[in-house]
Amino acid sequence: MIKQNVENFLKEVPPVNPFGEKITVVAAVKMQSVEAINQAVAAGITAIGDNHVQEFKEKYVEICGNPQRHFIGHLQTNKVKYLIAKTDLYHSVDRIALAEEISKRSVKAEVTSNILIQINAGSEESKGGFELDELITAYNAIKVMSNLKIKGLMAMLPFTDDKVELTRLATLMRQAYDEIKALDGDIEYLSMGMSGDWKLCVECGSNMIRIGTTLFGARNYNK
Ligand SMILES: *Cc1c(COP(=O)(O)O)cnc(C)c1O
Repeated sequence: MIKQNVENFLKEVPPVNPFGEKITVVAAVKMQSVEAINQAVAAGITAIGDNHVQEFKEKYVEICGNPQRHFIGHLQTNKVKYLIAKTDLYHSVDRIALAEEISKRSVKAEVTSNILIQINAGSEESKGGFELDELITAYNAIKVMSNLKIKGLMAMLPFTDDKVELTRLATLMRQAYDEIKALDGDIEYLSMGMSGDWKLCVECGSNMIRIGTTLFGARNYNK
């Protein structure tokens, strides 16, 4: 089931976006069993993204096939220590204090941590992240922190069927991405797109998509 879903999905994703950039698929593995995740990796998934530090810790050593490990969920400052040196990319750096903590812990562990700056593209109450007009200020503040490498931007678009609005926001994100990419040669990822909106996001210039439901089926929140 998962094997087939992954194979079908990887066939459906175009090799490059309209900007000619390769598209990375990150499997969003919250609430999935180790067996399910290992099946997805065996079927061709090269990066997995966790939302919860507890789940990340429990499953960490049992994941086979050496996929990249990403952290995609809201991250409490006091839990950063559990992820340091084990996380290839932090997608959800949504406030300065979090960047400071990842920096501090990275210095201590003598590693460099790759991060994305999370943007609240739709200015939603319920979502974390910087407003688009705060991006350059946030970028400048984070850029000078030790042992961090800013690799790009992450956004979760609003849950809506309004394609015009989604296209508008995704295009604004791409413009913001191009703006910081022009300043900084390390910038290479625009992480935007989930099961429901990934096609639209890729068409607007996303090059990293985070997919859960399409690969694993609907999550059972009662388990
Ligand atoms: C769960 C989750 C996803 C994947 O969502 P689906 O709609 O199941 O594909 C992507 N990004 C984040 C941050 C998530 O928490």
